[in-house]
Amino acid sequence: MGICAKHEPHSSPYTLPPKRVKSNAMATLTITPALAPFTTELFVDFTASANKRAMEAALAQVATELGREYDLVIGGKRIRTEGKIISTNPANPSQIVGTHQRAAAEHAETAMLAAQQAFAKWSRTPLADRVDLLLRAAALIRERKFLFCAWLTYEVGKNWAEADADVAECIDFLEFYAREALRLDTATTPIQYPGERNLLRYIPLGVGAVIPPWNFPFAIMAGMTTAAIVTGNTVILKPSVDASTIAAIFFNLLEEVGLPDGVVNFCPGEGPEFGSEIVANPKTRFIAFTGSKKVGLEIHESAAKTRPGQIWIKRTVLEMGGKDSIIVDRDCDLDAAIEGVTSSAFGFNGQKCSACSRAIVDAEIYDIFCDRITERVAAIRQGDPVKNFYAGPVINDIAVKRILDYIEIGKSQGRLLTGGTFVDTPEKGRYIAPTVFADVAPMARIAQEEIFGPVLAIIKSSSFEDALAIANNTEYGLTGAIYSDSRDNLDRAREEFHVGNLYLNRKCTGAMVAAHPFGGFNMSGTDSKAGGPDYLLLFTQAKSIAEKVTHVSALLDEQEDRMGI
Ligand code: NAD
Repeated sequence: MGICAKHEPHSSPYTLPPKRVKSNAMATLTITPALAPFTTELFVDFTASANKRAMEAALAQVATELGREYDLVIGGKRIRTEGKIISTNPANPSQIVGTHQRAAAEHAETAMLAAQQAFAKWSRTPLADRVDLLLRAAALIRERKFLFCAWLTYEVGKNWAEADADVAECIDFLEFYAREALRLDTATTPIQYPGERNLLRYIPLGVGAVIPPWNFPFAIMAGMTTAAIVTGNTVILKPSVDASTIAAIFFNLLEEVGLPDGVVNFCPGEGPEFGSEIVANPKTRFIAFTGSKKVGLEIHESAAKTRPGQIWIKRTVLEMGGKDSIIVDRDCDLDAAIEGVTSSAFGFNGQKCSACSRAIVDAEIYDIFCDRITERVAAIRQGDPVKNFYAGPVINDIAVKRILDYIEIGKSQGRLLTGGTFVDTPEKGRYIAPTVFADVAPMARIAQEEIFGPVLAIIKSSSFEDALAIANNTEYGLTGAIYSDSRDNLDRAREEFHVGNLYLNRKCTGAMVAAHPFGGFNMSGTDSKAGGPDYLLLFTQAKSIAEKVTHVSALLDEQEDRMGI
């Protein structure tokens, strides 16, 4: 494609000498390449003119590819349906980004059978091959980084840096899960029982439903999909209706790097129409979902119901919403706090599960904080993400209505400091001005319910104790941060701030794969910790095998010693 990232790529796994690793799977000893340790993908510096030009060229190229039609793909077979899903540009809703087929209930069983058939072979495919698939996909995405960024900009309205962060996280997931799968394969039992040969093998579960949200439509969609397949499962991937194009392009790339038919079945569809069908199917073994609390709980309930013919308890990996707080302590670096709250609340227009939607500010610095954040937020530049404005549109008309409704509620629950309006543009983009309310009561609706838009509530706290109590008073528990110069208060927050991802003296968004395993407490989900050392376990079941030492096992030992394993 010719539009490539300009920073140094990771060293290719294919130039490294092959290394034998001792697998604990006696029957399927595999030989895998040695990999350099995982390192985080670097972000693109768009202030460098070469990168700026590359992004502009990618946007121009993708502009010529908008409006194409993509297939439903089941078992490698490309299908067209009568019903369609039209994905549009939120900054310019008359511009079609992609037209997709609309999987309906009848496709659920066909996709399930294709995935089951593929599972028989894929689950026995050497691990090295599955790992290779992820690494080759990561390398190709890296090569086409600017193009993927451009697709994200058009389809969900990400500015360049936000799009780059999504692509980099996607690459990180693939690189990390490839290495984690190899690590899992070397697991052993804590001890060898005398007179036995003891093994622990992590084997795949079966066919899974992968149901991602629209807001990290590349990283989360690809992360859940590849975690499932690298461990030997096969999946039905149902992307969000608002972001099916980026998923289609990723699926095509997987095929390009050798994905066998039926391992991933690409099925765009509506949640209630198709998503609920694959959740309910008795042959579905697991569901990997990221999205809202409402839908997550529906899936949880449906998956818990045993249906005729079902022979297992379905496993659910559910990552849901948040109502995330930043505590601003009386002694803190106020400049850093203003920046941290602003970027956590208004980065990608507040459309992150980790977004700060509540700033809990100590009474002593409350007035100055309100003045400074008003000035800072009012200066945010808003406009078309293709032109790289900091603030862009929100995703769809439902989001516009939801956010404006909350802004109306906010007017009676707080003091509007800035924003609070829909911003009209000639293209009819879905822009809502970055909005801040002060003097919000801790239990007010705008302080408790996920708005998922550019709306920040400021709450006054009378003491650090009070601030912690407010921070913990929602049903969620996803991310949180604290700005403080007090060692005691930071230490106390470590213990008492009840969230899955806690940040001290930094913003509460921007989790990095492997450094910040991600997942929330309480109604924020099942705390799956994506990008962490325990994540792949969720896609496997452990088989313990004990063999008594006899002349037969001694022969196997000898054979392995001869092979140098
Ligand atoms: P959503 O819940 O509306 O949709 C998520 C997915 O579920 C989509 O693919 C949708 O089509 C599907 N779906 C909808 N109804 C369904 C049903 N009845 N059965 C099966 N599938 C169904 O969420 P969204 O608007 O796409 O994403 C925003 C939400 O996701 C926010 O609440 C945000 O906090 C959350 N989120 C959480 C995380 C996390 O890691 N915790 C990350 C990103 C987003």
